[in-house]
Amino acid sequence: MAVIGIDLGTTNSLASYWKDNAVQFIHDEKGTVLFPSVVGYTQEGFLVGSAAKKRQLTHAQDTIASFKCFMGTAKEYVLGGKLYTPMELSAMVLEQIKKNAEYFLKEPIEETIITVPAYFNDKQRSDTKKAAQIAGLRVERLINEPSAAALAYWMNSGPEDKTLLIFDFGGGTLDLSYVECFDNVIEIVAVAGDNHLGGNDIDKAILNYFCSENELELEMMSIEEVAILSKMAEEAKCALASKSEVCIELEVGGKLCRIALDEEILFTICMPLFAKIKQLFLHLLEDAASRVSRIDDLVMVGGSSKLGIVKRFLCELLGKEPIVLGDTDRVVAMGAGMYAGIRQRGETIKDMLLTDVCPFTLGIGVIERFVRDQNILSPMIERNSTLPASCKKRFVTSYDFQKEILVKIYQGEEYYVQDNVFLGEVLIEVVPKPAGQAWIDVQFTYDINGILHVLVINELGEKKQVLLANQSLSEEELVKYTKQMEKIMLPPILQPENQKILACFLEWYETSTGIRREQIAQKIGWFTAGLNSGRKKTVKETIDMATMWLNTIEKNKEMQEELLFDGELKEEEDI
Ligand code: ADP
Ligand code: MG
Repeated sequence: MAVIGIDLGTTNSLASYWKDNAVQFIHDEKGTVLFPSVVGYTQEGFLVGSAAKKRQLTHAQDTIASFKCFMGTAKEYVLGGKLYTPMELSAMVLEQIKKNAEYFLKEPIEETIITVPAYFNDKQRSDTKKAAQIAGLRVERLINEPSAAALAYWMNSGPEDKTLLIFDFGGGTLDLSYVECFDNVIEIVAVAGDNHLGGNDIDKAILNYFCSENELELEMMSIEEVAILSKMAEEAKCALASKSEVCIELEVGGKLCRIALDEEILFTICMPLFAKIKQLFLHLLEDAASRVSRIDDLVMVGGSSKLGIVKRFLCELLGKEPIVLGDTDRVVAMGAGMYAGIRQRGETIKDMLLTDVCPFTLGIGVIERFVRDQNILSPMIERNSTLPASCKKRFVTSYDFQKEILVKIYQGEEYYVQDNVFLGEVLIEVVPKPAGQAWIDVQFTYDINGILHVLVINELGEKKQVLLANQSLSEEELVKYTKQMEKIMLPPILQPENQKILACFLEWYETSTGIRREQIAQKIGWFTAGLNSGRKKTVKETIDMATMWLNTIEKNKEMQEELLFDGELKEEEDI
């Protein structure tokens, strides 16, 4: 049974799947891949996709679009006299996509990978999952749109370490993501964006230009005229991809009005939008603690990225040619299809790992001094933590001479434990002592497969553990996951191979004196800071660099002095 990847977009959605070691797109009888995320109502029933979009102008009251902007909120839309949430409307889109895919692939589809914006919170994520459920689809995984785009890029460009700027310019939104790809890991380091900046704003700018050139007041025009002009503006904008000049002509109030549009004019009237994009870009670099020169490649995504003036602007801003992977509006779906391939263990990409966020908080029940009758949740792994994640905390006894502690594990955001979801428990003995004196260490480790490992250790070093999974695991898988978890549990600085490197540095320090000693001390500081940076790529670079030094010095002892005194290495100033 095929697994499909779905880019559930604000303006357009599309679906893909993995076959013959490549991504294929699902299209309708007309060969159209883009599926407008639009729902319409008629006496006979609902219309979804292009059929609904076609009626948008003539039946504005009965047509709803861009509802993804309100996913996860309480907003409701009226359609045919009934109320619908963004989740229900998304379910209609997903159901139609499922039907199209089944027709196209001639087999039932039950499983899917759906992309969501990186900034989506857990409510928005869980509403997306619920929408899929209503549509009869099981969500194998939600992946972030920029991760999907980065995956698509990476698969096309080869497995080199890369720092990417993913520029996703859609119909109503702009999402910028700073992504690091290395060692089969794709990590979103920072995101910035604007939920009200997209292709629609370019259409509006054209509309305003039309009015000013023809001395028209937008407010004086009828809703129909504005709707027709908006459509013409969008068509003219898209036509600029293949023509150097386009015209818009419309009779307004008995007068024939027209404008001519070329790239120069469009660039000028879009200046305020570009100023906003620049601000967002600077904001992103600041959040990523980075600078333009560290971005290896700029990947253009989204329908509005097809505009020549957008490419030109970015080219000037970054001083490099952007990467365009075929149709920019298919890149996210391409990544989703590749991920579907990963899940089906497609040979070439099975080991690829995407970092993800934990959509809910995981914690244990504890007794609060002032709320003794009810246990409250003490968070261990906060929602939106990057996965895989591990956290260790110490807890003390609440009662005098308590003999054991029952560690109860919960998932949720509520204050009192009973309002959260109970996941499991671990019982451990403690040394009987006055309240607050006996302790246990609790460690939570949560990986990208949704498997939670809880380890409890008492003062005597006795261990108890439990592995909680939202799917049933075979004995073999249990052993495999427990092994993997051990690696996640140790922060980089405590991992044996890194401890070995540190020991070498410390030995040098011991055997040196004077300036050399100071320099080695600096290297030790640089090494530990790098390993504790919390950035996977920095950790890897630090280890690589340190290993390289060690190897060189090991090979050629005479060079040791020279290497250590050879000025500052470039990477050091970055840490
Ligand atoms: P979303 O991610 O918001 O669902 P898309 O990535 O599909 O949306 O982008 C839709 C936007 O792309 C629309 O505003 C549309 O006008 C614009 N667009 C599509 N094709 C072109 C083109 N050739 N030139 C300029 N803009 C385009
Ligand atoms: Mg999109």
